[in-house]
Amino acid sequence: MQKKNPPILVTRPSLPPVEEYDALVREIFSSFYLTNGGAQHQLLEAALKEKLDTPFLRLFTNGHLALECAILALNLEPGEIITTPFTFISTSHAIVRCGFEPVFCDVEPDYFTLDPAKIEEKSTPRTRAILPVHVYGNPCDMEAIDRIGAKHGLPVLYDAAHAFGVTLRGRAVAQYGDASMFSFHATKCYNTIEGGAIACNRADYAERLSGYRNFGIHPGDEIREVGGNAKMNEFQAAMGLLNLKYFEREVEKRGKVAARYRENLSGIEGLSFRPVRDGVNQNFAYLPVSFDPEVFGATRDEVDETLKTYGVFARKYFYPLVSTAAAYGGKFRPEDTPVALKASLQVLALPMYADLALTDVDDICEIIASCKR
Ligand SMILES: *Cc1c(COP(=O)(O)O)cnc(C)c1O
Repeated sequence: MQKKNPPILVTRPSLPPVEEYDALVREIFSSFYLTNGGAQHQLLEAALKEKLDTPFLRLFTNGHLALECAILALNLEPGEIITTPFTFISTSHAIVRCGFEPVFCDVEPDYFTLDPAKIEEKSTPRTRAILPVHVYGNPCDMEAIDRIGAKHGLPVLYDAAHAFGVTLRGRAVAQYGDASMFSFHATKCYNTIEGGAIACNRADYAERLSGYRNFGIHPGDEIREVGGNAKMNEFQAAMGLLNLKYFEREVEKRGKVAARYRENLSGIEGLSFRPVRDGVNQNFAYLPVSFDPEVFGATRDEVDETLKTYGVFARKYFYPLVSTAAAYGGKFRPEDTPVALKASLQVLALPMYADLALTDVDDICEIIASCKR
Protein backbone atom coordinates (compact mmCIF):
# COMPACT_ATOMS: atom_id res chain seq x y z
CA MET A 1 0.00 0.00 0.00
CA GLN A 2 1.19 3.51 -0.85
CA LYS A 3 2.05 5.92 1.94
CA LYS A 4 -0.82 8.42 2.34
CA ASN A 5 0.08 11.80 0.91
CA PRO A 6 -1.28 14.10 2.21
CA PRO A 7 -1.26 12.17 5.47
CA ILE A 8 -4.52 11.16 7.17
CA LEU A 9 -4.79 12.83 10.56
CA VAL A 10 -6.88 11.60 13.48
CA THR A 11 -9.41 14.34 12.87
CA ARG A 12 -10.25 17.23 10.59
CA PRO A 13 -12.45 20.15 11.64
CA SER A 14 -15.92 20.48 10.20
CA LEU A 15 -16.19 23.67 8.17
CA PRO A 16 -19.29 25.32 6.70
CA PRO A 17 -19.25 26.64 3.10
CA VAL A 18 -16.79 29.55 3.12
CA GLU A 19 -19.31 31.88 1.40
CA GLU A 20 -21.65 31.50 4.35
CA TYR A 21 -18.94 32.39 6.83
CA ASP A 22 -17.89 35.30 4.64
CA ALA A 23 -21.44 36.69 4.76
CA LEU A 24 -21.49 36.58 8.57
CA VAL A 25 -18.02 38.12 8.79
CA ARG A 26 -19.31 41.01 6.65
CA GLU A 27 -22.21 41.45 9.08
CA ILE A 28 -19.78 41.55 11.99
CA PHE A 29 -17.58 44.08 10.18
CA SER A 30 -20.48 46.40 9.45
CA SER A 31 -21.69 46.17 13.07
CA PHE A 32 -18.27 47.16 14.54
CA TYR A 33 -19.24 44.85 17.41
CA LEU A 34 -16.60 42.16 17.79
CA THR A 35 -17.19 40.65 21.23
CA ASN A 36 -18.93 41.26 24.62
CA GLY A 37 -22.14 39.43 23.82
CA GLY A 38 -22.92 40.78 20.34
CA ALA A 39 -25.61 39.66 17.92
CA GLN A 40 -23.92 36.37 16.85
CA HIS A 41 -23.20 35.51 20.47
CA GLN A 42 -26.83 36.05 21.47
CA LEU A 43 -28.10 33.96 18.57
CA LEU A 44 -25.71 31.11 19.35
CA GLU A 45 -26.45 31.10 23.07
CA ALA A 46 -30.18 30.80 22.33
CA ALA A 47 -29.69 28.13 19.66
CA LEU A 48 -27.43 25.98 21.85
CA LYS A 49 -29.76 26.24 24.82
CA GLU A 50 -32.31 24.56 22.61
CA LYS A 51 -29.91 22.09 20.99
CA LEU A 52 -28.48 20.93 24.33
CA ASP A 53 -31.91 21.09 25.99
CA THR A 54 -30.92 23.11 29.04
CA PRO A 55 -32.63 25.99 30.86
CA PHE A 56 -29.42 28.06 31.21
CA LEU A 57 -26.33 28.22 29.04
CA ARG A 58 -23.27 30.46 28.96
CA LEU A 59 -20.75 30.56 26.11
CA PHE A 60 -17.00 30.75 26.72
CA THR A 61 -13.88 31.34 24.65
CA ASN A 62 -12.83 27.72 25.21
CA GLY A 63 -13.86 24.63 27.13
CA HIS A 64 -11.01 24.75 29.60
CA LEU A 65 -11.76 28.24 30.89
CA ALA A 66 -15.44 27.32 30.96
CA LEU A 67 -14.55 24.42 33.26
CA GLU A 68 -12.48 26.67 35.54
CA CYS A 69 -15.32 29.21 35.75
CA ALA A 70 -17.79 26.38 36.44
CA ILE A 71 -15.67 25.12 39.35
CA LEU A 72 -15.22 28.62 40.81
CA ALA A 73 -18.92 29.44 40.47
CA LEU A 74 -19.80 26.45 42.71
CA ASN A 75 -18.50 28.56 45.67
CA LEU A 76 -16.91 25.54 47.35
CA GLU A 77 -14.84 25.50 50.54
CA PRO A 78 -11.21 24.48 49.89
CA GLY A 79 -10.79 20.70 49.58
CA GLU A 80 -10.89 17.74 47.20
CA ILE A 81 -12.72 17.03 43.97
CA ILE A 82 -13.23 13.41 42.90
CA THR A 83 -12.48 12.90 39.21
CA THR A 84 -11.17 10.37 36.68
CA PRO A 85 -7.58 9.92 35.53
CA PHE A 86 -8.84 8.72 32.12
CA THR A 87 -9.40 12.11 30.55
CA PHE A 88 -7.67 14.95 28.78
CA ILE A 89 -5.29 16.82 31.09
CA SER A 90 -7.59 19.88 31.03
CA THR A 91 -9.99 18.27 33.53
CA SER A 92 -7.53 17.78 36.37
CA HIS A 93 -5.57 20.96 35.54
CA ALA A 94 -8.80 22.96 35.96
CA ILE A 95 -9.26 21.42 39.43
CA VAL A 96 -5.70 22.23 40.47
CA ARG A 97 -5.63 25.72 38.93
CA CYS A 98 -8.81 26.56 40.89
CA GLY A 99 -7.04 25.61 44.13
CA PHE A 100 -8.54 22.16 44.71
CA GLU A 101 -6.91 18.74 45.05
CA PRO A 102 -7.93 16.12 42.49
CA VAL A 103 -8.73 12.68 43.91
CA PHE A 104 -8.51 10.10 41.14
CA CYS A 105 -11.16 7.40 41.10
CA ASP A 106 -11.06 4.40 38.74
CA VAL A 107 -13.29 3.91 35.67
CA GLU A 108 -15.69 1.26 34.44
CA PRO A 109 -13.95 -1.46 32.38
CA ASP A 110 -16.43 -1.27 29.49
CA TYR A 111 -17.02 2.42 29.08
CA PHE A 112 -13.89 3.97 30.66
CA THR A 113 -16.16 6.46 32.51
CA LEU A 114 -16.00 7.17 36.26
CA ASP A 115 -17.09 4.03 38.15
CA PRO A 116 -19.99 4.92 40.48
CA ALA A 117 -19.24 1.82 42.58
CA LYS A 118 -15.84 3.28 43.51
CA ILE A 119 -16.72 6.93 44.17
CA GLU A 120 -17.83 6.60 47.79
CA GLU A 121 -14.62 4.89 48.89
CA LYS A 122 -12.72 7.95 47.60
CA SER A 123 -14.85 10.36 49.58
CA THR A 124 -13.43 12.04 52.70
CA PRO A 125 -14.66 14.86 54.97
CA ARG A 126 -12.80 17.20 52.59
CA THR A 127 -14.61 16.08 49.41
CA ARG A 128 -16.37 19.07 47.83
CA ALA A 129 -17.58 17.92 44.41
CA ILE A 130 -17.56 15.17 41.77
CA LEU A 131 -16.21 15.88 38.28
CA PRO A 132 -16.89 12.92 35.93
CA VAL A 133 -16.07 12.88 32.21
CA HIS A 134 -18.19 11.53 29.34
CA VAL A 135 -15.60 9.58 27.36
CA TYR A 136 -15.63 9.55 23.52
CA GLY A 137 -19.19 10.88 23.66
CA ASN A 138 -20.26 7.85 25.69
CA PRO A 139 -21.96 9.29 28.78
CA CYS A 140 -21.18 8.23 32.35
CA ASP A 141 -23.67 6.28 34.43
CA MET A 142 -25.25 9.65 35.18
CA GLU A 143 -28.20 8.37 37.17
CA ALA A 144 -25.96 6.51 39.63
CA ILE A 145 -23.46 9.38 39.90
CA ASP A 146 -26.17 12.00 40.41
CA ARG A 147 -27.66 9.81 43.16
CA ILE A 148 -24.30 9.65 44.95
CA GLY A 149 -23.90 13.41 44.63
CA ALA A 150 -27.37 14.04 46.07
CA LYS A 151 -26.86 11.53 48.90
CA HIS A 152 -23.67 13.27 50.08
CA GLY A 153 -24.65 16.83 49.20
CA LEU A 154 -21.87 17.03 46.61
CA PRO A 155 -22.38 19.02 43.42
CA VAL A 156 -21.77 17.04 40.21
CA LEU A 157 -20.08 18.91 37.37
CA TYR A 158 -19.79 16.87 34.16
CA ASP A 159 -16.95 17.34 31.70
CA ALA A 160 -19.10 16.87 28.59
CA ALA A 161 -16.37 18.08 26.21
CA HIS A 162 -16.95 14.97 24.04
CA ALA A 163 -20.70 14.74 24.39
CA PHE A 164 -22.18 17.46 22.21
CA GLY A 165 -25.68 16.46 21.10
CA VAL A 166 -25.63 13.14 22.98
CA THR A 167 -28.80 11.85 24.63
CA LEU A 168 -29.44 8.91 26.98
CA ARG A 169 -32.88 7.32 26.53
CA GLY A 170 -34.00 10.51 24.82
CA ARG A 171 -32.78 12.78 27.60
CA ALA A 172 -30.00 15.29 26.84
CA VAL A 173 -26.77 14.83 28.82
CA ALA A 174 -27.01 18.46 30.00
CA GLN A 175 -30.10 17.49 31.99
CA TYR A 176 -27.95 15.57 34.47
CA GLY A 177 -25.82 16.87 37.35
CA ASP A 178 -25.56 20.49 38.45
CA ALA A 179 -23.73 21.64 35.34
CA SER A 180 -22.02 20.33 32.18
CA MET A 181 -19.07 21.71 30.26
CA PHE A 182 -19.03 21.37 26.46
CA SER A 183 -15.94 22.05 24.34
CA PHE A 184 -16.21 23.50 20.86
CA HIS A 185 -12.51 23.19 20.01
CA ALA A 186 -11.64 22.70 16.34
CA THR A 187 -10.90 19.01 16.98
CA LYS A 188 -14.28 18.29 18.57
CA CYS A 189 -17.26 17.00 16.58
CA TYR A 190 -18.90 20.44 16.80
CA ASN A 191 -16.65 23.51 16.74
CA THR A 192 -16.62 27.27 17.09
CA ILE A 193 -12.86 27.30 16.17
CA GLU A 194 -12.08 27.56 19.90
CA GLY A 195 -15.00 27.68 22.28
CA GLY A 196 -17.04 26.11 25.00
CA ALA A 197 -20.18 26.37 27.08
CA ILE A 198 -21.59 25.56 30.48
CA ALA A 199 -25.14 24.25 30.65
CA CYS A 200 -26.82 24.36 34.04
CA ASN A 201 -30.20 24.25 35.71
CA ARG A 202 -30.04 27.24 38.09
CA ALA A 203 -30.35 30.96 37.36
CA ASP A 204 -28.13 32.13 40.26
CA TYR A 205 -25.32 29.78 39.22
CA ALA A 206 -25.61 30.95 35.60
CA GLU A 207 -25.31 34.56 36.80
CA ARG A 208 -22.12 33.73 38.68
CA LEU A 209 -20.79 32.04 35.53
CA SER A 210 -21.40 35.30 33.64
CA GLY A 211 -19.40 37.07 36.33
CA TYR A 212 -16.43 34.69 36.24
CA ARG A 213 -16.49 34.96 32.44
CA ASN A 214 -16.18 38.75 32.46
CA PHE A 215 -14.07 40.08 35.37
CA GLY A 216 -16.96 39.66 37.82
CA ILE A 217 -18.78 42.64 36.29
CA HIS A 218 -22.58 42.63 36.52
CA PRO A 219 -25.20 45.17 35.41
CA GLY A 220 -25.05 48.36 37.50
CA ASP A 221 -21.22 48.22 37.52
CA GLU A 222 -21.25 45.86 40.46
CA ILE A 223 -18.13 43.67 40.69
CA ARG A 224 -19.29 40.52 42.48
CA GLU A 225 -16.63 37.92 41.65
CA VAL A 226 -12.88 37.89 41.14
CA GLY A 227 -13.48 36.86 37.55
CA GLY A 228 -11.16 36.71 34.57
CA ASN A 229 -11.82 37.05 30.86
CA ALA A 230 -13.26 34.00 29.11
CA LYS A 231 -15.69 35.55 26.65
CA MET A 232 -16.49 34.08 23.24
CA ASN A 233 -16.08 36.57 20.38
CA GLU A 234 -18.38 37.20 17.42
CA PHE A 235 -16.22 35.37 14.87
CA GLN A 236 -16.31 32.21 16.99
CA ALA A 237 -20.07 32.51 17.50
CA ALA A 238 -20.63 32.97 13.75
CA MET A 239 -18.70 29.75 13.05
CA GLY A 240 -20.78 28.04 15.71
CA LEU A 241 -24.07 29.16 14.16
CA LEU A 242 -23.08 27.76 10.78
CA ASN A 243 -21.61 24.50 12.07
CA LEU A 244 -24.79 23.97 14.06
CA LYS A 245 -26.79 24.07 10.84
CA TYR A 246 -24.77 21.16 9.45
CA PHE A 247 -24.22 19.21 12.67
CA GLU A 248 -26.82 16.47 12.10
CA ARG A 249 -25.54 15.88 8.58
CA GLU A 250 -21.98 15.61 9.91
CA VAL A 251 -23.04 13.06 12.55
CA GLU A 252 -24.78 11.01 9.89
CA LYS A 253 -21.60 10.91 7.80
CA ARG A 254 -19.51 10.06 10.87
CA GLY A 255 -21.91 7.21 11.56
CA LYS A 256 -21.18 5.77 8.11
CA VAL A 257 -17.43 5.98 8.73
CA ALA A 258 -17.88 4.22 12.09
CA ALA A 259 -19.99 1.49 10.49
CA ARG A 260 -17.29 0.87 7.86
CA TYR A 261 -14.60 0.49 10.54
CA ARG A 262 -16.83 -2.01 12.36
CA GLU A 263 -17.55 -3.97 9.22
CA ASN A 264 -13.84 -4.22 8.41
CA LEU A 265 -12.40 -4.86 11.84
CA SER A 266 -14.97 -6.88 13.73
CA GLY A 267 -13.98 -10.47 14.36
CA ILE A 268 -10.28 -9.72 14.67
CA GLU A 269 -9.26 -11.37 17.92
CA GLY A 270 -7.60 -9.08 20.45
CA LEU A 271 -9.07 -5.96 18.83
CA SER A 272 -12.21 -4.57 20.43
CA PHE A 273 -14.52 -1.68 19.78
CA ARG A 274 -15.58 0.30 22.80
CA PRO A 275 -19.14 -0.65 23.73
CA VAL A 276 -21.74 2.10 23.93
CA ARG A 277 -24.10 2.37 26.88
CA ASP A 278 -27.68 1.21 26.27
CA GLY A 279 -30.03 3.93 25.05
CA VAL A 280 -27.31 6.34 23.92
CA ASN A 281 -27.80 8.38 20.80
CA GLN A 282 -24.17 8.74 19.69
CA ASN A 283 -22.34 11.65 18.07
CA PHE A 284 -19.50 9.44 16.71
CA ALA A 285 -16.99 11.99 17.99
CA TYR A 286 -14.18 9.42 18.14
CA LEU A 287 -13.36 5.93 16.90
CA PRO A 288 -11.54 4.25 19.79
CA VAL A 289 -10.39 0.64 19.55
CA SER A 290 -8.45 -1.37 22.13
CA PHE A 291 -5.65 -3.82 21.49
CA ASP A 292 -5.06 -6.65 23.93
CA PRO A 293 -1.41 -7.45 23.15
CA GLU A 294 -1.65 -11.01 24.56
CA VAL A 295 -4.32 -11.93 22.03
CA PHE A 296 -3.70 -9.50 19.15
CA GLY A 297 0.02 -10.22 19.22
CA ALA A 298 1.07 -6.61 18.67
CA THR A 299 0.82 -3.77 21.15
CA ARG A 300 -1.22 -0.60 20.69
CA ASP A 301 2.06 1.33 20.28
CA GLU A 302 3.27 -1.03 17.55
CA VAL A 303 0.01 -0.59 15.63
CA ASP A 304 0.30 3.19 16.03
CA GLU A 305 3.90 3.17 14.72
CA THR A 306 2.98 0.96 11.75
CA LEU A 307 0.11 3.29 10.80
CA LYS A 308 2.55 6.23 10.90
CA THR A 309 4.83 4.56 8.37
CA TYR A 310 1.84 4.66 5.99
CA GLY A 311 1.12 8.33 6.72
CA VAL A 312 -1.84 7.56 9.00
CA PHE A 313 -1.80 9.44 12.29
CA ALA A 314 -4.05 7.92 14.94
CA ARG A 315 -3.89 9.19 18.51
CA LYS A 316 -3.23 7.50 21.84
CA TYR A 317 -6.20 9.07 23.54
CA PHE A 318 -6.13 9.29 26.46
CA TYR A 319 -2.46 8.67 27.14
CA PRO A 320 -0.60 9.08 29.42
CA LEU A 321 -2.92 8.76 32.38
CA VAL A 322 -3.35 12.34 33.64
CA SER A 323 -2.52 11.36 37.24
CA THR A 324 1.04 10.59 36.10
CA ALA A 325 1.65 14.05 34.61
CA ALA A 326 5.08 15.42 35.56
CA ALA A 327 3.26 18.63 36.53
CA TYR A 328 1.82 16.82 39.57
CA GLY A 329 5.24 15.78 40.83
CA GLY A 330 4.58 12.05 41.20
CA LYS A 331 1.97 12.63 43.91
CA PHE A 332 -0.49 10.09 42.47
CA ARG A 333 -0.07 6.37 41.85
CA PRO A 334 -1.35 4.95 38.55
CA GLU A 335 -1.65 1.49 40.19
CA ASP A 336 -4.47 2.94 42.32
CA THR A 337 -6.63 3.12 39.19
CA PRO A 338 -5.72 -0.14 37.39
CA VAL A 339 -8.66 -0.14 34.96
CA ALA A 340 -7.84 3.37 33.75
CA LEU A 341 -4.13 2.51 33.56
CA LYS A 342 -4.81 -0.51 31.35
CA ALA A 343 -7.16 1.52 29.14
CA SER A 344 -4.51 4.18 28.63
CA LEU A 345 -2.05 1.53 27.41
CA GLN A 346 -4.41 -0.33 25.06
CA VAL A 347 -6.66 2.22 23.40
CA LEU A 348 -6.05 3.97 20.09
CA ALA A 349 -8.34 6.59 18.56
CA LEU A 350 -8.42 5.95 14.82
CA PRO A 351 -8.94 8.72 12.23
CA MET A 352 -12.57 9.87 12.37
CA TYR A 353 -14.23 12.79 10.63
CA ALA A 354 -17.28 13.28 8.45
CA ASP A 355 -15.42 13.52 5.14
CA LEU A 356 -12.99 10.66 5.73
CA ALA A 357 -13.21 8.59 2.55
CA LEU A 358 -14.49 5.05 3.05
CA THR A 359 -11.69 3.78 0.79
CA ASP A 360 -9.21 5.37 3.22
CA VAL A 361 -11.02 3.60 6.08
CA ASP A 362 -10.55 0.34 4.17
CA ASP A 363 -6.82 1.03 3.79
CA ILE A 364 -6.42 1.93 7.48
CA CYS A 365 -8.18 -1.29 8.46
CA GLU A 366 -5.99 -3.33 6.13
CA ILE A 367 -2.85 -1.91 7.77
CA ILE A 368 -4.24 -2.68 11.23
CA ALA A 369 -5.21 -6.23 10.25
CA SER A 370 -1.69 -6.78 8.90
CA CYS A 371 -0.27 -6.02 12.38
CA LYS A 372 -2.03 -9.08 13.86
CA ARG A 373 0.36 -11.82 14.85
C1 LIG B 1 -11.10 19.18 24.68
C2 LIG B 1 -11.30 18.81 26.11
C3 LIG B 1 -11.26 19.76 27.14
C4 LIG B 1 -10.83 21.19 26.93
O1 LIG B 1 -11.58 21.90 26.02
P1 LIG B 1 -10.93 23.08 25.15
O2 LIG B 1 -12.10 23.67 24.46
O3 LIG B 1 -9.93 22.47 24.24
O4 LIG B 1 -10.30 24.06 26.11
C5 LIG B 1 -11.56 19.33 28.43
N1 LIG B 1 -11.88 18.06 28.70
C6 LIG B 1 -11.89 17.11 27.75
C7 LIG B 1 -12.27 15.71 28.11
C8 LIG B 1 -11.59 17.46 26.43
O5 LIG B 1 -11.58 16.49 25.49
